[in-house]
Amino acid sequence: MNTQVILKSRPEGQPEAEHFDFKQVPVTELADGLVRCKTRYLSLDPYMRSQISGRHISQAINPGDVLQGETISDVIASNHQDFKVGDVVRGFGGWQQFADLPASALVKVAHPHQSYALSVLGMPGLTAYAGLMWQAQPKPGDVVVVPAAIGGVGATVGQLAKANGCTVIGIAGSDEKCQIAVDKLGYHHCINRKTEDVAAQLDKLCPNGIDIYFDLVGGDMLHTASHRLAIGARVILCGLIAEYNQTERSFGPEPAYWIKARATVHGLVVYDFEPRRQEFIDACMPLIESGQLHMLEDISEGIDAAPEAFAKLMRGENVGKTLVKVS
Ligand code: NAP
Repeated sequence: MNTQVILKSRPEGQPEAEHFDFKQVPVTELADGLVRCKTRYLSLDPYMRSQISGRHISQAINPGDVLQGETISDVIASNHQDFKVGDVVRGFGGWQQFADLPASALVKVAHPHQSYALSVLGMPGLTAYAGLMWQAQPKPGDVVVVPAAIGGVGATVGQLAKANGCTVIGIAGSDEKCQIAVDKLGYHHCINRKTEDVAAQLDKLCPNGIDIYFDLVGGDMLHTASHRLAIGARVILCGLIAEYNQTERSFGPEPAYWIKARATVHGLVVYDFEPRRQEFIDACMPLIESGQLHMLEDISEGIDAAPEAFAKLMRGENVGKTLVKVS
């Protein structure tokens, strides 16, 4: 039998485990051309919150549907010549123990850090790399500000900016997270968004303004950072996690802030950079091997843990990239 997680009802506000349900379905004969994947790691990501609201650009998840998501899996049976039993593959297996997937939708994971294929060497890493290196184009000495500083995308942005000679300031949701940002990820400073006055701290830490603001949260933080940009600043609009649990979107910052700074503002959608994924992996592998780039992982055990792990992510309580170790 295959355990699947389905959406029970659309949450209003914060999703909780009660919005999800479990279903047991029999594993049937493997069809021609398909590869049977046994999920090892399931990635949980904020975009899923928009999918279960029915408003994400990729697809909507409706009540009764199996939740979708990227996975690292072991091939346990194959009806395609390109894959054999024992291969480790990345694909979209979803929130379930087993998935029969077409060979064209699978990529072999060649490097030894298998879970990294869902984090620093996967979609969050590509997001960070594309936004920072290809859009913002950091220069040594730039002041880079990163909210959600120790999460999947933020941790990679922070470490890449540091490796490129920037002064890196994180913003995170607890003293523990700020300590991790400085001690383990090499941020020069980290501001606790819940207990400190973020605007006053940015004024103190960035007296000449912010050169790159990598926005992962939207809301008030985007307004506060946009008010403090240096001339020629780059703003990467990447995510709105402060707003995903709301039904209404908030208004953005005043364009006057961006005009005054002669800022370049980039919207970022990671799917656009998929053709450049190998270029990004080739650039990051040496940094991983030299220890300049690594990922904190917040791993829950077992498919049964997926709903609560997702609720924890959407409460902002994850410490690092959210993963479920399914088998
Ligand atoms: P993550 O950072 O691992 O986890 C989310 C973090 O957001 C939380 O741990 C929390 O950290 C922070 N946060 C800030 N304000 C929050 C609030 N009001 N409620 C809950 N959490 C809040 O997640 P991620 O996967 O790396 O994604 C980060 C952002 O990038 C998300 O907005 C996501 O949608 C976006 N994204 C965009 C693309 C794209 O193509 N545009 C691709 C990937 C991800 P603190 O408590 O430490 O602040």
